[in-house]
Amino acid sequence: MNNPLLPADTPADTQPAVVDRHGHIAPIEDCLEFLNTGRPVRRRHTHEFGGPTDALDWFSARNLLHDDARRRLLARYVADPAAGAADLEIIRRTRDAMRGLLEATVQGRPVSPTDLRAVNRALRTHYVYVLVPAPDGVSLGHQHLGDPIGGALGRLAETLARELSQGTPERLRICESPDCTAAFLDTSRTGRRRWCDMATCGNRAKAARHRERRRQLAATGSSGAVDPTA
Ligand SMILES: [Zn+2]
Repeated sequence: MNNPLLPADTPADTQPAVVDRHGHIAPIEDCLEFLNTGRPVRRRHTHEFGGPTDALDWFSARNLLHDDARRRLLARYVADPAAGAADLEIIRRTRDAMRGLLEATVQGRPVSPTDLRAVNRALRTHYVYVLVPAPDGVSLGHQHLGDPIGGALGRLAETLARELSQGTPERLRICESPDCTAAFLDTSRTGRRRWCDMATCGNRAKAARHRERRRQLAATGSSGAVDPTA
């Protein structure tokens, strides 16, 4: 069935049978999790997309991909593995470019033009807003036009773009623990969080400081009294 709100020449396979149940804006938590994939976080390597179907699972689990689009893509990857490899490459490239913008922001330096171009490409996704019937009137949904992977990346890129330009970019951090590269949003009251997680990275840093203090005390032959102001 054609959607009267879409242009008449919109290909039928870009018209999902059901209007979207996912919200349009991806949560910042999902966006940061995406930017932390395939990296050392809290001494472990986080999930890396091992293949295109793995990436589809990741997007689906976060409501970034409709089931019908996922099924179509899975069939396409089986028929044409090169298409799957190309999608995986786009996913990783876009992620790395988004990560580049975030790191430049955290470090207060200009962004790389290459990263900016790649993220701007991801933002050029197509969807239309549609009103859909709801039990008490109507609600606002949307439909994607075109490539569903582009749609998923576009939504993640939009969340990052909004955070960097209109959100609280000064609250974005990269964990200071030497064996962790987690990007996170500091939601603490004071805004002075340095580690992605106090129970792991924060405690390890405290323990390391403590060991260093004891080592210095031993080296200077001190009786072991700790400077209470340290
Ligand atoms: Zn950390």
